[in-house]
Amino acid sequence: MTTEELRKSLLAAPKNGFTRISAEERAAMENYCKRYMTFMDEAKTEREATDWAIREAEKYGFVPFVPGMEAKPGDKIYYNNRGKAIALAVVGTESLAKGANICAAHVDSPRMDLKPNPLYEDSEIAYFKTHYYGGIKKYQWVALPLAIHGVVVKMDGTPVNITIGEDENDPILMISDLLPHLASGQMEKPAPKIIGGEQLNVILGSEPIEGEGSDLVKLNIIKWLNEKYGIVESDFLSAELSIVPAGKCREVGFDRSLIAAYGHDDRVCAYAELEALFTIPTPAKTAVCILADKEEVGSMGLTGMKSKYFEHFMGGLCDAQGVKLDDCFANSFCLSADVSNAFDPNFPEVSDRRNNSKLNYGVSICKYTGSRGKSGCSDASAEVMSHIRSTFEKNNVIWQIATLGAVDVGGGGTVAADMANRNIPTVDAGVPVLSMHAPWEIVSKLDCWATMEACKAIYLA
Ligand code: MN
Ligand code: MN
Repeated sequence: MTTEELRKSLLAAPKNGFTRISAEERAAMENYCKRYMTFMDEAKTEREATDWAIREAEKYGFVPFVPGMEAKPGDKIYYNNRGKAIALAVVGTESLAKGANICAAHVDSPRMDLKPNPLYEDSEIAYFKTHYYGGIKKYQWVALPLAIHGVVVKMDGTPVNITIGEDENDPILMISDLLPHLASGQMEKPAPKIIGGEQLNVILGSEPIEGEGSDLVKLNIIKWLNEKYGIVESDFLSAELSIVPAGKCREVGFDRSLIAAYGHDDRVCAYAELEALFTIPTPAKTAVCILADKEEVGSMGLTGMKSKYFEHFMGGLCDAQGVKLDDCFANSFCLSADVSNAFDPNFPEVSDRRNNSKLNYGVSICKYTGSRGKSGCSDASAEVMSHIRSTFEKNNVIWQIATLGAVDVGGGGTVAADMANRNIPTVDAGVPVLSMHAPWEIVSKLDCWATMEACKAIYLA
């Protein structure tokens, strides 16, 4: 054999996804990304994503889970976990004793939440105090347009939904930064301290209402909120209001091959899972789609992936078929669908080029995450890696391998460990992202589409 023949037969040769897709696939990719962008403009919080999922699922014939209900092949069932997380299933032709094929993503993203007592006035400017949620570089969240999304639940239980800053006629909110002229002290601080947590105070207004006192601007703001939403200051005590970047997602680059949006992590995988689930025929094994909350703060609590709500849902389906939940889990497979860091040539030193995911090379499979000596990871076995490789290859899914940065540089985790701890063989895979956790993150259209194809292949495996 010549060296060229040896090279071809023995060496791996990953190729840019654009060299591997047909004109039809290219058109399908563009259409898919248009639908994805619409979803992103409508769903900026876990509540909005859950609402969106329920609305769409019902169009496709999904019905709410009720304990004791039947679970026959082709049945489409969803479990709404308190409006903040959702699990959906299409019941397969085989018994749940043979396991389910699960894709699990999360729909919460880094942001700033209002504190319980958020409203105050200082120097005749009204503000909201916030507490950041998830891992952010605080200095990135100042001096950019912000919107408020969320819900106030009044004493009598009435929910009041609030969204301000997204309509082009809406006002936006903002956090101020220091002018460079006076920032010599600030610029010498380490980055986590350039903007302190207690400086993430959102400007709400500056016009005093007529009268006497030191709270006339604040009073004017709460009066406006009262007229528009019927709330009073103490109603903030029972509210979940979040400050997120204002505006719609946009195509990036002269060739429009990329998309910038708030919260690609992880709604880019959540959307892929949903669209795949909505378009598959009745699968052999039951297909399950999870959109979890609280991943960015450790997956704890009622709506996080550690919550027993997942057992409540899957146990209910298993009961309907006379199957033990533990048997179902042991025979299941889970794709923990979450984003990876795309290789960034601006910061090559944090990655191992030979093992990092790249834009446009497709859905990235991450065998393990964790930090230092793989601490905290769920390390997918060689057998599981073989299963996912062969499933993707059989279905012409464009995929690549990923690791989360060079050894000892940092690390992270996803819901993979929470699923694997349930005795479900699990592997991480998802869309590579540039500027992860920044107000605007970047992904490639090709990778978004490849991830949807990957979810389809898993559901039908
Ligand atoms: Mn994530
Ligand atoms: Mn994240």
